[in-house]
Amino acid sequence: MVRTISLLGATGSVGASTLDLVRRNRDAWHVEALSANCSATELAALAREFGARIAVVGDESCLGELRAALDGSGIEPAGGAAALCEAAARPVDITVAAIVGCAGLAPTMAAVERGGTIALANKEALVSAGEVMISAVARHGATLLPTDSEHNAIFQCLAGSNIEDVARITLTASGGPLRTWSIAEIAAATPEQAVAHPNWSMGAKISVDSATMMNKGLEFIEAHHLFPVGLDRLRIVVHPQSVIHSMVEYRDRSTLAQLGPPDMRVPIASCLAWPGRMDTPLAPLDLADVGELTFFEPDETRFPATRIAREAIEAGGAAPATLNAANEIAVEAFLAGQIGFTQITAVVEETLGRYSASAPGTLQEVLAVDCEARQCAREALESCALV
Ligand code: NDP
Ligand code: MG
Repeated sequence: MVRTISLLGATGSVGASTLDLVRRNRDAWHVEALSANCSATELAALAREFGARIAVVGDESCLGELRAALDGSGIEPAGGAAALCEAAARPVDITVAAIVGCAGLAPTMAAVERGGTIALANKEALVSAGEVMISAVARHGATLLPTDSEHNAIFQCLAGSNIEDVARITLTASGGPLRTWSIAEIAAATPEQAVAHPNWSMGAKISVDSATMMNKGLEFIEAHHLFPVGLDRLRIVVHPQSVIHSMVEYRDRSTLAQLGPPDMRVPIASCLAWPGRMDTPLAPLDLADVGELTFFEPDETRFPATRIAREAIEAGGAAPATLNAANEIAVEAFLAGQIGFTQITAVVEETLGRYSASAPGTLQEVLAVDCEARQCAREALESCALV
């Protein structure tokens, strides 16, 4: 049976992993929509390869390039925020939400409001919108399949169980490339060092988030929304081998863990085939080869991001959207060489101190908080900018 799929963020790292799986089983899928921000030529090539019905660039100024690259293909080119939402709202069996950042929120919500099944990689959307997205999922009868590896692991460990029986959920964290560095070394980390993740190959933004541990902070908030066991039942443990992707402990003290190679094709395949299973090209997990699995408490002195994120979700209201917006601005500034590594979390904390707003209750209000918090983060940047 042929299934239909739309992929938001097709030119990214999660996009490439998803298309790799689709490519291996080409006859099983019909591709409806593919999107990018401005990688128009690359997007057009993917749209032609997969016979997509529509290809969309989020940045409307790149539509001319897309149109030219799709000329004669019969594939519909489209551009801009409204076109992205329109494409995301088209009926398909599964929408993979793999845009990076809060830029993915409106199109993801468009898929939610259609009542679709969404494989959610775009954690920033859920961190920013929180209750707004979760209540829309319930209201529209949508299904969220967690694609982030930790949340996919938890989802698998919870299968068939009662959430009231959960005593604790443990998110594992690799610790990132700077895990063993001293405070002085961390302060001098360059963008090249920060994106050099030891286990996972990912886009630049999430790679920096892994280095600061903000990725785990965002994932803590993401887990809180996806698996409502209460913040006091969520914890983080550093596990440098990235073999156990997360764990669920039940009240009888039985702990279930999901293990696998650190490759996003595993959780993506679990979403694409859900509630069934499908093949992936990955080698079997050889634990004798891995040898050792080790675990450590997170060090919030060297990596304060998980504390900042926990405080933001405890505060609730506009704080998580503010945290996410400020982090996006700070990571961008770090990658552009404007601030040092340690200043990423300093800018986030400074923004959370400077900006407050009432709890957003609609998508428009979340987007307004995001926009204002970005402005405030830019002002905070100026006080610590290197250039
Ligand atoms: P990438 O940076 O590799 O790709 C991002 C994708 O989003 C690209 O297709 C990009 O298009 C598109 N995009 C970027 N900005 C916009 C915008 N403003 N409007 C519309 N589209 C945009 O990111 P990743 O694939 O690494 O991550 C995607 C999401 O998945 C993130 O939320 C990340 O946290 C999450 N995730 C990623 C994992 C990974 O292993 N990479 C693991 C777990 C979660 P273009 O090419 O034109 O810029
Ligand atoms: Mg993850």
